Amino acid sequence: MTAIAQNTSTYFMDLEAACGAHNYHPLPVVLSKGKGVFVWDTEGKKYFDFLSGYSAVNQGHCHPKIVEAFTEQAKRLTLTSRAFYNDQLGLFEKYITGLLGYDKVLPMNTGVEAVETGLKLCRKWAYEVKGIPQNKAVIIVCEQNFHGRTTTVISFSSDPCARENFGPFTEGFLKIPYNDLSALAKALENKHVAGFLVEPIQGEAGVIVPDDGYLFTAKKMCAEANVLFIADEIQTGLCRTGHLLACGAEQVRPDIVLLGKALSGGMMPISAVLADDEIMLTIKPGEHGSTYGGNPLAAVTAIASLQVLIEEKMAENALELGVFFREQLEQLGAPQIRTIRGKGLLNAIEVASTDPEAAWKLCLRMKENGLLAKPTHGDKIRFAPPLCITKTQLEECVEIISDSLTCLNE
Ligand SMILES: *Cc1c(COP(=O)(O)O)cnc(C)c1O
Repeated sequence: MTAIAQNTSTYFMDLEAACGAHNYHPLPVVLSKGKGVFVWDTEGKKYFDFLSGYSAVNQGHCHPKIVEAFTEQAKRLTLTSRAFYNDQLGLFEKYITGLLGYDKVLPMNTGVEAVETGLKLCRKWAYEVKGIPQNKAVIIVCEQNFHGRTTTVISFSSDPCARENFGPFTEGFLKIPYNDLSALAKALENKHVAGFLVEPIQGEAGVIVPDDGYLFTAKKMCAEANVLFIADEIQTGLCRTGHLLACGAEQVRPDIVLLGKALSGGMMPISAVLADDEIMLTIKPGEHGSTYGGNPLAAVTAIASLQVLIEEKMAENALELGVFFREQLEQLGAPQIRTIRGKGLLNAIEVASTDPEAAWKLCLRMKENGLLAKPTHGDKIRFAPPLCITKTQLEECVEIISDSLTCLNE
């Protein structure tokens, strides 16, 4: 047997196959460096990153300002636990609540922990403020949702693959079709409904953009029914869709906002839940928390990550270049593309092919040509570059996509 050099992509892929759980199916590329919109593999080949860590690196890879804030704080103090105060958390809390206009924030780590926190808050509020009888609270969710991977969150997933043999599941959720206001109206007739959990755009489902006015009317209907509107902005938020929050496009102010992913610019898991006092103060000391939640390293990193988004006008860039990108793709008039959709720089295409592997094949070809993207749900491919991308770079990317499409004719 010939020995494989210990710095090649084959070596690292074999290591993962041998020693890591097989819970992912990555594209065969091993990355070792990133800067801005680019990543490099172990062989030194450069790629445009069109996934951005599922929108965790909106600010671009290894943004110098975020790296600087992170490393300076890492040398000083990283974790105190919430048993003690630290001199950074309050600054983060002041900054983010001021920026988004809420009374309070509750910091967590991963996105799904923000979702869990939002659900727990909603239930507390239901019993202690709204007055729903014990254990009767219902939270409305949407079909094809993606809110993460914990047992409670997969309890209301409609993806069989996320649920199979993971039961029994958590009760208290009612699933309705997405982008369907009459289904929502009907569901809201139930007096035990406490909240409506919704993604402003369904990212994982393939960038499903609801009709204009859906979020606005849904929020209004929830308000009339005294039901909390909980926006999962973990993927859509923080400038990705051309606004600080995707809900902002319709002037919707959710009762509970869930953030994650780009809140750290890709440095570490940082998530947050925002709400006003009537909701947030239902959780009392000792009733909820996390060892790492609100650590000073995360606090500093999150402030820097938010400041970069604002200072570098990333919402404006995403809005403008999103329109440009979709126009450019439309202009290709490519028969291999069935649909192009998105908002800001959260976009997807549907590949027109009878071959169930077509989207995967296209991603492999785009990888050969220097652009990384990943299929979601079979025939859909998400295009979500870092928000620091320029118009010229985007033009180059459209050319790569266009050239790669020919692989579907072969
Ligand atoms: C990624 C994502 C989550 C889960 O975040 P994790 O950090 O992976 O736990 C939840 N909701 C949405 C909309 C997401 O895109």
